[in-house]
Amino acid sequence: MHKNTIAEVCQNLANGDYSSKELCQHLLERISRFNQSHNAFIEVSADAALSSAEAADQLRAKGANAPLLGVPIAHKDIFCTEGIRTSCGSRMLENFVPPYNATVVEKFNAAGTICLGKTNMDEFAMGSSNENSYFGSVANPWDTDRVPGGSSGGSAAAVAARLVPATTGTDTGGSIRQPAAFCGITGIKPTYGRVSRYGMIAFASSLDQGGPMATTAEDCALLLEAMSGFDERDSTCIDRPVERYIDAIDQSLNGLKVGLPREYFSAELSAPIAAALQQAIEALQKLGATFVDIDLKNQSLAVPAYYVVAPAECSSNLSRFDGVRYGHRCESPVDLEDLYKRSRAEGFGREVKRRILIGTYALSAGYYDAYYIKAQKVRNLISQDFARAFEQVDVILGPTTPTTAFKHGENSDDPVAMYLNDIFTIPANLAGLPALSAPCGFVEGLPVGLQLVGNYFDEGRLLNIAHQYQQVTDWHRQIPAGVE
Ligand code: GLN
Repeated sequence: MHKNTIAEVCQNLANGDYSSKELCQHLLERISRFNQSHNAFIEVSADAALSSAEAADQLRAKGANAPLLGVPIAHKDIFCTEGIRTSCGSRMLENFVPPYNATVVEKFNAAGTICLGKTNMDEFAMGSSNENSYFGSVANPWDTDRVPGGSSGGSAAAVAARLVPATTGTDTGGSIRQPAAFCGITGIKPTYGRVSRYGMIAFASSLDQGGPMATTAEDCALLLEAMSGFDERDSTCIDRPVERYIDAIDQSLNGLKVGLPREYFSAELSAPIAAALQQAIEALQKLGATFVDIDLKNQSLAVPAYYVVAPAECSSNLSRFDGVRYGHRCESPVDLEDLYKRSRAEGFGREVKRRILIGTYALSAGYYDAYYIKAQKVRNLISQDFARAFEQVDVILGPTTPTTAFKHGENSDDPVAMYLNDIFTIPANLAGLPALSAPCGFVEGLPVGLQLVGNYFDEGRLLNIAHQYQQVTDWHRQIPAGVE
């Protein structure tokens, strides 16, 4: 059962091959078997899941046939879930039980999915290794000595270990795609504004976007449709009809024009990853795609620009955690200032504090123009690079990450080395473009991801390309030894 994709689960539930309750029970047993070693879940909501599964089975028996009815998923612990603790991987929100659901959660509930629990993540989604979680790091199922990527590391590991067929993630600078690549699964960051951010705890509001993580592109198509759509409670959410992504994925790739950015096939990319990508390029050529070299000449400025914009926005967003309204509060404060200072000093971890300091500095009166405004200008140049490229090609292909999953602790003392993990993923966030990562091979037993970046609202095409590629390859079907 646990090897089934979302599409297969939908089919099997509809056929009555097993019930939602049987499936959820089986997966919950796997979670309790593997969570000690993998730590992919922060919270497991077994009782609520089993009673919802039972209710879904009853609805089905009465003739209800919504495709996702009774399908188990798990949410990244950044999405507010009514009555279920939502920690955002932090000590600050260690005991926070939201009184409401995020729009994404609400949409999945309305579609009939069952939430098995909340997945581990870097504190406030800041990180590339999941090592910044207050709840401890997560093991990569392909090699438990290695990180699963971040910040949606728990979501990626849970899917890779087949503890749940799909999860939600969020991506501010790569947090869906980089862990998807490290764990050998498929994930898509939609166009900025496609998915509502309401109830998704804010990190950098102009970059944050939620999306699905699953084993296949087909599953991502089903889930993205369920979670997308206009929401008046998020002022940056776009009022535009949601596509039937599942209808888009079967199209032929004949005549597809793919751009290969010279800047992505550069010195930063490890040679074996480049070789895996070359094989993927050949597979796509056989499917009818043609390739041209393109330039994205300002790409090298993306990481520095991001590390001004994202901390600036985070310093503002995280100012709400002041020990007054909710979240961690220090013991016996002597006055208001002491309350603020100690609550925040105790409630935030090192990386979050580093970002708040950098962001506050970048936004301060004397440095605002030199850093923040400059970074916004660079952001514009990066968007223009993409706009020029999309006059020439339909989609851009490159690596998701410069290396495969690294060892726990390997980059912990060097924030810049950690930040450079996202050199290939950050540009799409700065431009607000949709981007997908799909498995395209292994290097020394560790998964490699290929990245597709599309034009605005071209999610259907990205899913189409990845799905066609997955019809002729089976990288996405591989399961790590030890969790079969
Ligand atoms: N690794 C990046 C960071 O730490 C991206 C995180 C994310 O996408 N949430 O900012």
